[in-house]
Amino acid sequence: MEFDFLVIGSGPAGYAASIRARKAGLSVCLVEKNMVGGVCLNRGCIPTKALLYYSSLRLKAAEAALFGVHDAAASAVSFDSTEVQRRKLEAVDAIRANQIAFIEKCGITLERGIARIENAGAEDKTVSIAGADGTRKIVRAKRVLIATGTKPALIPVAGCELDGVFTSDDLLGDNGPLLEKCFPKLTIIGGGVIGMEFAGIYSNLGGEVAVIEALPRVLANMDREISQTIAMSLKKRGVNIITNAPVEKFEKTGARSGGRELSCFFRKKTDPPETPPQSIASSAVLIAAGRKPETAGLFSPDSPGAIALTERGYIRVNEAGMTSVAGVYAAGDIAWGAAFGMSAGIQLAHTATAQAERIVDHIVGKTAAPLGAIPSCVYTAPEIACAGLTADEAKERGVPAIVGKGVFGGNGRAVIEHQERSFVKLVFHAETKVLIGAQIMCNHATDIVPWAVQCINAGITAEQIRNSVFAHPTYAETIAQAAESV
Ligand code: NAD
Repeated sequence: MEFDFLVIGSGPAGYAASIRARKAGLSVCLVEKNMVGGVCLNRGCIPTKALLYYSSLRLKAAEAALFGVHDAAASAVSFDSTEVQRRKLEAVDAIRANQIAFIEKCGITLERGIARIENAGAEDKTVSIAGADGTRKIVRAKRVLIATGTKPALIPVAGCELDGVFTSDDLLGDNGPLLEKCFPKLTIIGGGVIGMEFAGIYSNLGGEVAVIEALPRVLANMDREISQTIAMSLKKRGVNIITNAPVEKFEKTGARSGGRELSCFFRKKTDPPETPPQSIASSAVLIAAGRKPETAGLFSPDSPGAIALTERGYIRVNEAGMTSVAGVYAAGDIAWGAAFGMSAGIQLAHTATAQAERIVDHIVGKTAAPLGAIPSCVYTAPEIACAGLTADEAKERGVPAIVGKGVFGGNGRAVIEHQERSFVKLVFHAETKVLIGAQIMCNHATDIVPWAVQCINAGITAEQIRNSVFAHPTYAETIAQAAESV
């Protein structure tokens, strides 16, 4: 079989690239070794957001009495983890069925199996596809896109292999209802995006949660005030957040419970060195300490080193998303480089899609637009959504900045919905008053942030924002207040 374009991996990058290429008239083969949709659909964004939504309903039902909604059943709200799991799979299956139907409708050839690049350097690339039945099919293509993504990384400490130590793949995949294995107490290692979202899910469901983070604050890449506010909000809901505390080992403990307890040992960086490690016992541990590249079986052992990798095994790409080998591209989590103006190392579904589509534009000779401001979202309660620079980042880059802040204390929707302490920060260039960054923390922040992205990309000023009419009552009104304040 011969194609113009062969794509390895059907996650947000591979799926989007295949469709874009087909629409541009290329013949396309899409190879997937697992479920169509990749990590995002099967073990990432979608199942997490499903669990966050379902678990938030339990919290809402439990809180409804505050608003005069009384239901005898609600006084003892419980959840059925099998039903939660079934609902989550139903949502994932529905989206996947839609994607497969669209792949077929577009005329993309979908091949199931493990793709291995046999001769990256040749003009026509040969890729072999090993099927589950042991057969190996040979496919040729003029261009290849590697979009194989990442998988959860473990941490280099003893006890990661113990029963009850999970990754997000274990808790989000379709391996069965592992949800209840994390009750009554879950310890989460890592206060990054995954750690914060899971802390939300388990505390919503009434579980006892501890988060252990090695750095001085959770969501360490985000605005400092956002980190502090989300930590405060989770603490108020009973989540135990321990920062500055690298984890050292896990051990089975709890003689009385037959060794079914898992203890997590950590040492606070602020303690004197002779201080013995502290420990937290729980029913299960979730390791949410970053991800690692998925390249298993991708390169033929006969042509090693043909495609340049970083030290950590990511695939190096140039500004057009091309690897060190002409005609072979990489996009999404697996790619490492400043493709289309993006900083290296950003691992988000929407950047994967955006990069992949631009790679196809580049291949078919269209001008590929730079990516511009990248939104980043955390689906906590309240939600967090950011784009562009924070005030600290502007300072580091020597960009003179002025910050406009709006708080939700007087916002109609926020008051009605009893929203926790939240705010919007708009970062403007101090001289031109052009918007260069936005940090939004409120209900629906993830649906408001595309507005900020467009304003940043279009060079909109504080005055233009202030002069726009904001619908009332909306959370977005606080944005006008933030613009007004500068
Ligand atoms: P992360 O890098 O965001 O956070 C991992 C955290 O673990 C860091 O804060 C790190 O300091 C901490 N850590 C590492 N080793 C530790 C140790 N031994 N002890 C204690 N703490 C330790 O990684 P993640 O949360 O696993 O997420 C992975 C990727 O997936 C990220 O790039 C993220 O952006 C992406 N993601 C995005 C979304 C979203 O867009 N909503 C959701 C989930 C994941």
